Amino acid sequence: MTDIAVTLADKRGTLSSDDKLGFGKIFTDHMFVMDYVTGKGWHNPRIVPYGNIDISPAAMVLHYGQAIFEGMKAFRTEDNRVVMYRPLDHLKRFNNSADILSIPLMDLDLVHEGLRKLIEIDKRWVPQSLGTSLYIRPFVISVDPYVGVKVADQYTMYIILSPVGAYYASGFKPVKIKVEEHYVRAVKGGLGEAKTPANYAASLKASEEAKKEGFTQVLWLDAIEQKYIEEVGTMNIFFKIDDEIITPALNGSILNGITRRSVIEVAKDWGMKVTERRISIDEVFEAHERGHLQEVFGSGTAAVISPVGELSWKGKRIIVNNNQTGETSQKLFDCITGIQQGRVADKFGWVEEVTKL
Ligand SMILES: *Cc1c(COP(=O)(O)O)cnc(C)c1O
Repeated sequence: MTDIAVTLADKRGTLSSDDKLGFGKIFTDHMFVMDYVTGKGWHNPRIVPYGNIDISPAAMVLHYGQAIFEGMKAFRTEDNRVVMYRPLDHLKRFNNSADILSIPLMDLDLVHEGLRKLIEIDKRWVPQSLGTSLYIRPFVISVDPYVGVKVADQYTMYIILSPVGAYYASGFKPVKIKVEEHYVRAVKGGLGEAKTPANYAASLKASEEAKKEGFTQVLWLDAIEQKYIEEVGTMNIFFKIDDEIITPALNGSILNGITRRSVIEVAKDWGMKVTERRISIDEVFEAHERGHLQEVFGSGTAAVISPVGELSWKGKRIIVNNNQTGETSQKLFDCITGIQQGRVADKFGWVEEVTKL
């Protein structure tokens, strides 16, 4: 296997206390980097001190947005091991995003080894308190200095690490969601299934308007009929109706969430009925009118589970489960975070030990 060269930082940063971490603002001492050039392939994998990067103002990513990213987490368990959650599933999705954006596929064994080595070197940055974690952000950018539209010939892949605080420092708080009826996020045949910056750029205007109206996020409907439910800004979405868990089926425009998969597998394991299918917003509002809508929650790496307390669509507002966290939402959160942090047995084999402290 290719050797991963390591250059250690002369100066090391200082950790702030766990309650001051926030999300995505603090970065560790080192990063993983690897280059690609057409003809040569991916090469020169290395770990170097974290710092600003030097790219041409003409770098293609800045003009045409050919880029992808991932988001995953590592945790410190109570018995002082550092573990990653479903890293291979995340890396497979990374390559799937690469394929969608015409970015050359990476050797995932090499990326996996680089990631393990990076975490080993920066392990003192993995925070300890309940709910905290080390957020892992792999990404690829196209860097040819060329102002013209084409598939790039030069790329750089990075992995940076960020210790993050507890998402729910003061307990669950169900969020208010606006069902978007004007803007759309992604369309079948487009980029919706890729983790790529363009999807976020496309979502900003709608989420800004929703925030001004007092909502936390928007719920996207399909881009053609604006009728079928897709997902929330950075989360997949679930409905509990008549004790059945329903989530929109993967259709090419929805992100294939790893937390979504975990929710489906855990709920099925508990013997619950879980269905992936098309579900319209009318159906959800009707179920509520009949008193059958029990819970709504989002799933994603950052929050794991996010209960939804209110949905607003075409001027109609519905309150879900009295604006309280539902029983299934709470149980799923406890189970998945328990597996991640080593408090619940990992019967699915989702946790990978990286190192000990
Ligand atoms: C990352 C992401 C999700 C959640 O995926 P996880 O793998 O569960 O973190 C959902 N929707 C979008 C648009 C995303 O980018």
